[in-house]
Amino acid sequence: SKSNGTNGYEFYSEELNQEIIEFAFLEQELKKAIENETIQIFFQPKYNAKSESFVGVESLARWTLEERGVISPSTFIPIAEKSGLIVQLDQYILKKACIQFKSLIEEGYDLKGLSVNFSQLLFYHDHIVDFVLETLKAAELSPVQLEIEITETIAMYNTAYTLNILNELKSHGIRISLDDFGTGYSSISYLKVLPIDCLKIDKSFINDLIVDKQSDALVITLISMANILEIDVIAEGVETIEQAEFLFKHHCYDIQGYLYSRPLPLEEMRTLLQQGSSR
Ligand code: C2E
Ligand code: CA
Ligand code: CA
Ligand code: CA
Repeated sequence: SKSNGTNGYEFYSEELNQEIIEFAFLEQELKKAIENETIQIFFQPKYNAKSESFVGVESLARWTLEERGVISPSTFIPIAEKSGLIVQLDQYILKKACIQFKSLIEEGYDLKGLSVNFSQLLFYHDHIVDFVLETLKAAELSPVQLEIEITETIAMYNTAYTLNILNELKSHGIRISLDDFGTGYSSISYLKVLPIDCLKIDKSFINDLIVDKQSDALVITLISMANILEIDVIAEGVETIEQAEFLFKHHCYDIQGYLYSRPLPLEEMRTLLQQGSSR
């Protein structure tokens, strides 16, 4: 059925075929990488301006494919989500990240928490709360040391079901953070219902700070929204001192971004923590 159309059809079908082949190839390789545990975990520190120190780390998945080199999360996370592999991937990352984070704590680094990204599909996985609690227990971490980062899309599926799971996680002391804040559709009333501990201002807003007055006003508004709701606030994607100073001036003291550090493998994170956060 592929060869009996018009030229236009054939061209279209050829391109589509390529896409399907590429998707299938990456999906298969990703599956292997998860099974063989060759997906790496990088950590990016969260800096607090009041204590002038790193207070936590976020885990970020990294994948290098021999014949291709580094594959960006923006490529493989959507593939993992479409194929359902994200459930195994996120569970694997959670386990590994907990163990590696625990090793940092045992070495005496004073980090309050580990933040892990949770995809929407994970919430529909059976016994997800038990899985999280068991993973924490196995790594000898307390639930209060874990923060789960969810996106507004998950929050949007504000079904009784999702809300239940979030509440259950929270009842054990696990923190819930709303990632990419400002890019979705959450309203104030919505945020009041969700058991959110922290709003993470999306890096697209931080990127335009100072050069764009509208972004300045938006960021100030997002910070005050958090203040009104008595929710913590953190800014991601902070790259310059000017951006950091703007945020501190407007009472956002927690920041994450290349200004302090790129995401790093465990060994390099250890070195960074040894040096402290003095820039
Ligand atoms: P995210 O959770 O919003 O993570 C922040 C992204 O911004 C990361 O990209 C990080 O490397 C990057 N970043 C941090 N600071 C800066 C900065 O100062 N400037 C710029 N330009 N970028 C900065 P990364 O690691 O490529 O991850 C992209 C997205 O992929 C993440 O966005 C997250 O949504 C997803 N992701 C990554 N790892 C996982 C995972 O283990 N599970 C799930 N479900 N999603 C993941
Ligand atoms: Ca995140
Ligand atoms: Ca984000
Ligand atoms: Ca993002």
